[in-house]
Amino acid sequence: MGRLSAGLLHSLMYNYRGCSIPLFFIFLDFPCGGLEWNTMSLYFDHNATTPLAPEALEEMLPYMRQDYGNAASIHRPGQRARAAVEKARAQVAALVHCEPNEIVFTSGGTESNNIAILGAVRESGKARKHVITSVIEHHAVLRPCQALEREGVEVTYVPVSADGFVEPDEVRKALRPETVLISIMHANNETGAVQPVKDIAAIAREAGVLFHSDAVQSTGKIPVDVTGLGVDLLSMSAHKFGGPKGVGALFVRQGVRLLPLMFGGMKELDTRPGTENVAGIVGMGAAARLATENMDQDAQQLARLRDRLEAEILKRIDRAGVNGARENVRDGEWRRMPNTTNLYFDFVEGEALVIALDLQGIACSTGSACSSGSVEPSHVLLAMGLSAERARSSVRFSLGKANTEQDVDTVLRIIAPTVKRLRALSPRVPAEMRESVRN
Ligand code: PLP
Repeated sequence: MGRLSAGLLHSLMYNYRGCSIPLFFIFLDFPCGGLEWNTMSLYFDHNATTPLAPEALEEMLPYMRQDYGNAASIHRPGQRARAAVEKARAQVAALVHCEPNEIVFTSGGTESNNIAILGAVRESGKARKHVITSVIEHHAVLRPCQALEREGVEVTYVPVSADGFVEPDEVRKALRPETVLISIMHANNETGAVQPVKDIAAIAREAGVLFHSDAVQSTGKIPVDVTGLGVDLLSMSAHKFGGPKGVGALFVRQGVRLLPLMFGGMKELDTRPGTENVAGIVGMGAAARLATENMDQDAQQLARLRDRLEAEILKRIDRAGVNGARENVRDGEWRRMPNTTNLYFDFVEGEALVIALDLQGIACSTGSACSSGSVEPSHVLLAMGLSAERARSSVRFSLGKANTEQDVDTVLRIIAPTVKRLRALSPRVPAEMRESVRN
């Protein structure tokens, strides 16, 4: 397919979360070469989702074919399904070091966060209620907090440092007698910054306040030990670590009570009603087992690849940089997700770069959100103090198990000329740079 026709076809498809992105000019300028059009991508967007592990698929298939029993039924087909669900519960419990009866299966990270936050706050008997969370949380935490505000609950959104970390002292300062819940994420989905959850959980425990952590981006990728971290509630999502989409789990420490969001029969540990998604749960269990077995070596390998990608990009492209801290490990613990890098490229629109790379067979992303028909810069990057312009010029690469040195070489071959061409089209490039981006 030629440059122009492929470009026009592609322009029809760039409808980003309801926002049409008017970037037609790009398509005339970027050959769709390198990789076969639209069928093959080098995938660098594993924080959005990961491919289903083949082993997980194999283990799921029988529960979509012959073993279709309802896990709540008394008969043998039902009991086979129940046994599969309980095996998966033990596998997920082993991944985060808790008891199987502390795991509630859900439809994913969004539901886990909602059950934890709304359920914990609504269950609390206090007359006045206050919640502490941070400005860099995923919308699956921010939106339930906003819903609580509409119910009269007060919420404090603590700030982050320029490198993307919540300071435990900010949480301590925000505590009030009426605080009923603190919710701070484990790893940030955009920058990969691993938050000091252990220290914040200790503050919560000392104050007698429940502590929830959204660990959707860290679980299955770096060690997550609910006892070591000291959390009461922890959200996970299967599709972020090689499991299927539409299934997740919530760790609920024994004794913690949550008001259910939904009411019905066949409850997951009295918290979540409905017939269990047996095949999905089996897939999550298999992905948890694989993650438990391979975590250390996978994380080290990813960090090596990510570090090379990042360092080489910075070497080849001027006016580019990393958003957030680059330190990987401190005191033996991951301080940044080994697979994530968030980079800015001054004078380039992030969406334009994502589309131009996609046209050349490389899938990555921006952290922008669509609001009222226009693309808004990432709330996470703005909260770290980046200007709107720099936040808009940022792109996230998130690596996964399947990425190779050759994949990184391909990105490195393509990205510098792509940034240069986008800058050549940009009216924002300062006069002194114009000559260098034209040649
Ligand atoms: N929390 C974080 C930090 C995430 O990155 C995501 C997904 O991107 C979610 C929650 C939502 O998870 P799910 O897609 O399973 O609903």
